[in-house]
Amino acid sequence: MKTVTIKDLGQYEGQDVTVKGWVYNTRNIGKIWFLIFRDGTGLLQGVVVKGEATVETFAMEQDLNKEDSVILTGTVRKEPRSVGGYELGIKEIKVVNHVTEEFPISLKEHGADFLMSNRHLWLRSKRQNAIMRVRHQIVKAIRDFFDDNGFTLIDSPIFTSNAVEGTTTLFEVDYYDRSAFLTQSGQLYQEAGATAFGKSYCFGPTFRAEKSKTRRHLTEFWMVEPEMAYVELDENMTWAENLVTSIIQRVLEYCQSELKTLERDISKLEAVVPPFPRITYDEAATILKEKGIDFKYGSDFGAPDETLLSEQFDKPVMIHHWPADIKAFYMKRDEHNDEIALGVDMIASEGYGEIIGGGQREDNIETLINRIRHHDLPMEPLKWYLDLRKYGSVPHSGFGLGLERTVAWICGTKHIRETIPFPRTMTRLEP
Ligand code: ATP
Ligand code: MG
Repeated sequence: MKTVTIKDLGQYEGQDVTVKGWVYNTRNIGKIWFLIFRDGTGLLQGVVVKGEATVETFAMEQDLNKEDSVILTGTVRKEPRSVGGYELGIKEIKVVNHVTEEFPISLKEHGADFLMSNRHLWLRSKRQNAIMRVRHQIVKAIRDFFDDNGFTLIDSPIFTSNAVEGTTTLFEVDYYDRSAFLTQSGQLYQEAGATAFGKSYCFGPTFRAEKSKTRRHLTEFWMVEPEMAYVELDENMTWAENLVTSIIQRVLEYCQSELKTLERDISKLEAVVPPFPRITYDEAATILKEKGIDFKYGSDFGAPDETLLSEQFDKPVMIHHWPADIKAFYMKRDEHNDEIALGVDMIASEGYGEIIGGGQREDNIETLINRIRHHDLPMEPLKWYLDLRKYGSVPHSGFGLGLERTVAWICGTKHIRETIPFPRTMTRLEP
């Protein structure tokens, strides 16, 4: 008998097949009972009819528990009313492992903390399955986008010695007879990558010890960071816009059933096509003022500010030309105004907040040395970084896109903790 997955069931209409998985639920209506079954690729309704199934199999209904591991054999039938459009006329059920305690997660409502503590089991549920599948497609879309556009993958290290944006948000770890920090961004290394390969990117976990308990902050999250030589701010924004568009297209093409499970309003995602609005920090500040927000010019936008700004557009909005004081030392200044940094943030639509931070980098060595001094940063660990300006310096730019925030936006999940398999936050290190 051929073993198949639920996802591919449609190819076997009329045939007898075997599927391997777990009991989701059972339902009895007398001479017939239903076994709702999952195999990790989808849900399937199995129908057990007296006379069709073996006598032992028909009698099994009483003994099956949620999450029993079972192997089913039966005939694939078209059934438009059934989940997935097909059902299995079950002939035989083989129990591989029997659950003797009640599965902690039932179909009733549970609190978020309880579910998070049972994350290892919660991942089996329909909604979590859908989110993880969308995440998987987004990761693929990101890799394909860069691979197809001439970028070389240059992994940045996770252990670093330089605390270039201050140590307060870094996790310090023992490193033999000294300390090291877990990386909070792979960018500086990508600048080496871009000068070696023209265009490079890294995509991996990053760590931030920020003491924020918002629904947008994790202590461990994934970030993709492209960096491009001979690219200035405007072109950098175009790359960011094209990346996000290509992610959305991919999800719309491959994840329709997941988006349906998540009850996502697809029309909102379909609206995300270039060009995205581009406004300056000043223009954004003016919008906030006009809306009666008490925004302090010169400060960063808070979550409510970002929400309000995103509500003005039906696409993500890019905010560029920032007050230099609130941006990192490596950001290039506007040639006409030294107070302004050539940074750009992309704010997702529908109030999901900042998903991209980036900008053009300072390429002049003297200016960069002065900035490092001005920011009171140690020169020694940045010596290699300065070499990049000493040998073959060019205008260059890049950005970082946070994977989990992007998944949260596309899936329409309120809290970022559902968008990563095992979230790490200030208060959670388990499971
Ligand atoms: P925020 O102000 O929202 O904390 P940031 O300005 O610190 O973000 P960047 O340093 O520009 O963010 O990082 C680039 C991207 O990484 C952000 O746009 C966001 O998508 C993501 N990101 C940053 N911090 C976190 C975090 N703690 N958890 C999850 N994603 C994050
Ligand atoms: Mg931050």
